[in-house]
Amino acid sequence: MKLKSFMIALLLAGTLAAPAGAAPAAPASEVSVRPSWSWPLSPTPAVVRPFDPPPKPWLSGHRGVDLQAAADGVSVTSPADGVVSFVGVVVDRPVITIDHGDGLRSSFEPVRSGLRQGSAVTKGQEIGVLLPGHCGQLPCVHWGVRRGEEYVDPLAFVMDLRPSVLLPLRGP
Ligand SMILES: [Zn+2]
Repeated sequence: MKLKSFMIALLLAGTLAAPAGAAPAAPASEVSVRPSWSWPLSPTPAVVRPFDPPPKPWLSGHRGVDLQAAADGVSVTSPADGVVSFVGVVVDRPVITIDHGDGLRSSFEPVRSGLRQGSAVTKGQEIGVLLPGHCGQLPCVHWGVRRGEEYVDPLAFVMDLRPSVLLPLRGP
């Protein structure tokens, strides 16, 4: 009798375990290249338009990156801890700015947020939802990062952008 219940238990275990094993594992390479900040969208978004700062401050350029979202209305999350330093509409664009300290500020648009100026946020916390319009029909969020008053490439905080260094070979 004992053997029979053991066999039934095995059969049940096998049946139950099968669907759980079907989930694909995340590639290991994604972990090693990620510096201290997290992407403001999940899953890891594609870069629709890269950082392209203008040669002079008064010229046009692209002072941030556009990241493709799964859909309009998805959560936008804070890439690092900080404090909301601005929430509002700039011209016609809803913007939220997070002050991360060390002179670094992230801005996201078009994002509708229920947070108030002065709210503390943690890395990965939802700071608002994506509204349509920045990339035409394609759902995307614009993410700008300033160090002081200078715009810098946001991707540097989530990817290792340093060129690989080739060490010179020593001759005899
Ligand atoms: Zn943009």
